[in-house]
Amino acid sequence: MSKQQFVLASGNAGKLREFSQMLAEKHIEVLPQSALNVSEAEETGLTFVENAILKARHACESTGLAALADDSGLEVDALDGAPGIYSARYAGVGAGDEANIDKLLLALDGLPEHQRTGRYQCVLVYMRHTLDPTPLICQASWEGRVLTERLGEGGFGYDPVFYIPELQCSVAQLNAAEKHQHSHRGKAMREFFQRLNSLLPV
Ligand code: IMP
Repeated sequence: MSKQQFVLASGNAGKLREFSQMLAEKHIEVLPQSALNVSEAEETGLTFVENAILKARHACESTGLAALADDSGLEVDALDGAPGIYSARYAGVGAGDEANIDKLLLALDGLPEHQRTGRYQCVLVYMRHTLDPTPLICQASWEGRVLTERLGEGGFGYDPVFYIPELQCSVAQLNAAEKHQHSHRGKAMREFFQRLNSLLPV
């Protein structure tokens, strides 16, 4: 059986690592957009789904291949959903994970545990080509709360300060397989795999 091939519309190293782990046993060949010289898309949308569509369409347009894009982030209730779609650039464009975490801890400074609730959101968009009128859209979330200090070394982004009460640890304390089993991205990917095979050609 020939492998399905598509481009992964992300330049985020943490996400790319998770996707390659989740796709390892699938009959799918995924090319990171950097390997095809695709530039980062401009994320001008105001929702995860708009930004995921912009990223997927940009990767289709640049490569002529089908594309899978992920737009994701952390919503914190006490901050009215911030950093949300701005999670990657919360402390400024190019600021990086450590600066983003520092800004978040400062914004929540002094707040008691029960007011530190939030969730990771992940929206996956798969487009067969640039003008695909019916992109496949899969969305999932993962509830938790923001710690007052970093715990654990794994994962990426906000994982050291995102605590999962059911698992009694931060996401950075999970190994890769445990994170995929429970995470927003793992759940959205499982839905994507289920629906991919029933997609009709356009
Ligand atoms: P995007 O690349 O514009 O979708 O931004 C994603 C940002 O959301 C990342 O840079 C992280 O800050 C955050 N994020 C998304 N998923 C995760 C995750 O699984 N763990 C930790 N942070 C995440």
